[in-house]
Amino acid sequence: MPEDCVFCKIGAGQIPVQPVYEDDEFVAFRDLNPQAPIHVLLIPRAHYSTLMDMQDPGLMGRALLAVQQIARALGMEEEGFRVVVNCRDNGGQTVYHVHLHVLGGRFMQWPPG
Ligand code: 5GP
Ligand code: ZN
Repeated sequence: MPEDCVFCKIGAGQIPVQPVYEDDEFVAFRDLNPQAPIHVLLIPRAHYSTLMDMQDPGLMGRALLAVQQIARALGMEEEGFRVVVNCRDNGGQTVYHVHLHVLGGRFMQWPPG
């Protein structure tokens, strides 16, 4: 695990969070700087810097199944929500431990900024 990776520390329980969802592979928690009434980050506990470093289709599929559970737990399954993965500079990625943003609780504009 990279020594200074905040999300590795959250995944390992070294920085405590109130999990919205967790299992052996993933943990989900509220974003520090929410961009919507509901803004959750889902991270794999294992470190992958960006989406481009993920190889395992099983892991990626299970991440989306975890998103379904988060959506149900937070009551977004009917109204809908948005899932975003920012990748590298043009994607606006700031934390280089891959994560899925799960945004809801309001209508999402398109196109994104
Ligand atoms: P990115 O810009 O990389 O796609 O998203 C990183 C997100 O992580 C941002 O929305 C930012 O607010 C959030 N974030 C950064 N550090 C922390 C932290 O220590 N705790 C939580 N809960 N969110 C964080
Ligand atoms: Zn990490």
